[in-house]
Amino acid sequence: MAHTWSNWSKTISSTPTDVATPWTIEALETTVDEAIAQCRRLKAVGSGHSFTSIAAANDIQLDLSNYTGIVTFDQHAGRVTLRSGTRLWQIAQLLAGSGWAMENLGDINQQSIAGAISTGTHGTGVRFGALASQVIGLEFITGTGQRLTVSEDQDPEVLDALRVSLGAFGIVTTVTLQLVPEYDLRTVEAPAPLDEVLDNWQAFNDQHDHFEVFWFGHDQNVQTKSSQRLPVQDRSPSPLQRAQNWVTDELVSNGGLALISQLGRRYRRLLPALNRYATRAWGSSDVTAHWSSAFATPRRVRFNEMEYALPFETIPDVVRELRALFCRKNLGSTFPLEIRSAAPDTAWLATNHSQPTGYIAVHQYFQQDFREYFAQIEPILRAAGGRPHWGKLHTLAAADFPALYPKWQQMLDLREQYDPQRIFANSYVTRVLGA
Ligand SMILES: Cc1cc2nc3c(=O)[nH]c(=O)nc-3n(C[C@H](O)[C@H](O)[C@H](O)COP(=O)(O)OP(=O)(O)OC[C@H]3O[C@@H](n4cnc5c(N)ncnc54)[C@H](O)[C@@H]3O)c2cc1C
Repeated sequence: MAHTWSNWSKTISSTPTDVATPWTIEALETTVDEAIAQCRRLKAVGSGHSFTSIAAANDIQLDLSNYTGIVTFDQHAGRVTLRSGTRLWQIAQLLAGSGWAMENLGDINQQSIAGAISTGTHGTGVRFGALASQVIGLEFITGTGQRLTVSEDQDPEVLDALRVSLGAFGIVTTVTLQLVPEYDLRTVEAPAPLDEVLDNWQAFNDQHDHFEVFWFGHDQNVQTKSSQRLPVQDRSPSPLQRAQNWVTDELVSNGGLALISQLGRRYRRLLPALNRYATRAWGSSDVTAHWSSAFATPRRVRFNEMEYALPFETIPDVVRELRALFCRKNLGSTFPLEIRSAAPDTAWLATNHSQPTGYIAVHQYFQQDFREYFAQIEPILRAAGGRPHWGKLHTLAAADFPALYPKWQQMLDLREQYDPQRIFANSYVTRVLGA
């Protein structure tokens, strides 16, 4: 019976002709070799957490959820090689007790390591790159069946081409990460006036290892989240900390958000009041936790998302322009905009390629149409030189990207070399990279 796959937000689905779920490298290689020999299309899927159809397979779906775990771990140098389907939460478990940690993470940990790096998944912090910045080696099978072992020491250019590669160049079989000594994160959440944050955007980011802002477009206040890295302490969370975590993660982020989203969907005129209420309900908290549990929060209320990477210094002006738009058009969503940052990266298709980067993300409840809302905001993000997140919704196509990515032509040449038969293409890949 045909199996229908859908992504996390339930807006993308596909019905692959066949599904391969290899447990071993031999089975994985056989799947790829047979697909090439039979001129089939093959699409790897991680955990299906992209909002675009980037992972949708119409012919063979390569489901890597069983292809997980550590291949090698150099405990002295803090270098771990993982099978490509390993989930981020599994990595934290696998590293437990080793004294090592991932350098930075985004706001969930459900993604596979290969899926996360392939779309340029990032967290926040002006001194830290995206997840792909932690990658120092890859093993890879191209669309001609070639096995590549690429490392930063021997092939830095090829590694830069493949670290963020949209699943369009071949199948990543292993990912080697450079780890850092484990750490705790002290995270303070507090409301602040929007203008104060925008006036001091650089300083807020410089002062904290990780800084992010949640802002409902109708509100003059924002919620800030600032984290500092600390040496690991030997302790478990106090009852007060556990209670604070529960209030923030469950009551406000999930339970409250679900209720507000339902209300906002039915009674649109209530949005400004609901937004102000949500910012106030968020309140303040001060929690210290081990890195393995500090970054990610549960996301039980489904949504769709668009996110653009912008030159870091443009963020205050762009947010002010968005504020004027929200006011003029009475725009709104029950989800806040999320504003983050990242250090530059040399990966060819990294959204933070070669520039300190600020990110602006907009979300819409999954039961509401996102198109009209995103369509009002996207031109402002594009006009500021924005690059869309590869795994999140946007309307750009192949002709738009050469102006945004200096290595675009080299990337197309490499794609021609690695996937001349377009084994790894699907409708999204063809739209953004061309036929
Ligand atoms: C609730 C939620 C929160 C999110 N938070 C963040 C965030 O904080 N920061 C951020 O930047 N993004 C975030 N995202 C987006 C998400 O991180 C990316 O879309 C990511 O790519 C999803 O990883 P995945 O394992 O689900 O990959 P999938 O969506 O399954 O696949 C993504 C791409 O990777 C390719 N791929 C997967 N495995 C392989 C392989 N072995 N070889 C070659 N190609 C492969 C697929 O073919 C596809 O092209 C979030 C998404 C959701 C739903």
